Amino acid sequence: MSQNGKLYLIPTPIGNLEDITLRAIRILKEADIILAEDTRTSAPLLKHFGIEKKVYAHHQHNEHQSSNEIVRLLKEGKNIALISDAGTPAISDPGFFLVREALKHELTVECLPGPTAFVPALVNSGFPTDRFCFEGFLPLKKGRQTRYKQLATEERTIILYESPHRFVKTLEEMATYFGRERQISVSRELTKLFEETVRGTVEEIKAYFENHPAKGEFVICIAGYSSKAAAIEPEN
Ligand code: SAM
Repeated sequence: MSQNGKLYLIPTPIGNLEDITLRAIRILKEADIILAEDTRTSAPLLKHFGIEKKVYAHHQHNEHQSSNEIVRLLKEGKNIALISDAGTPAISDPGFFLVREALKHELTVECLPGPTAFVPALVNSGFPTDRFCFEGFLPLKKGRQTRYKQLATEERTIILYESPHRFVKTLEEMATYFGRERQISVSRELTKLFEETVRGTVEEIKAYFENHPAKGEFVICIAGYSSKAAAIEPEN
């Protein structure tokens, strides 16, 4: 039997604390070591669930060095739980590099199911969920335009993460590359007090956010490209 420890990836709430699972709490309590993207951000969450142990930082700036040490500790038999600031680690958050390193060393990795922003946004959108394409954050500068051009004819539902300060600009770019008439759905502040999902054409959503503050966290779902829809001339 393997004496190695296990690496757990533990999803944490994206807003509503009730969304953590019972198993997530148990594994966080039982783990020998907890790694967090930002120890200060995670401290209140861990305290809330009565998890009192030292938490170590594992983030994009130290993940290369810290992964070697984590692999060593896993080989010593330590069970290690990784959390990010919110949602599922490794989904637009640190985690992928560590998972790959652990697997290279034939260590066991287990990601628990749990909160993540893109699944409720996709389901709320009303767009097809049988095939979709998760793009996370688009590149900030270099490569952004190329990515838009590639996505313009993507037939599956597209999901993007976006920060509030770039959100309005992103809507303008979407009008350029996908057309003003493309249907989109924007989910804001999922699981939080001011949660809302707004659906319509790029033009309609732009108009909506000109009158409502674009505050909080956003997921943008874009209806896949349809040659039939593209052939319909927009009304004047
Ligand atoms: N690991 C997270 C997950 O599993 O969804 C994603 C982390 S990523 C750094 C943060 C982005 O996720 C935000 O900019 C936003 O696009 C999206 N997000 C996270 N929480 C959200 C929420 N409550 N409502 C809407 N979008 C959210």
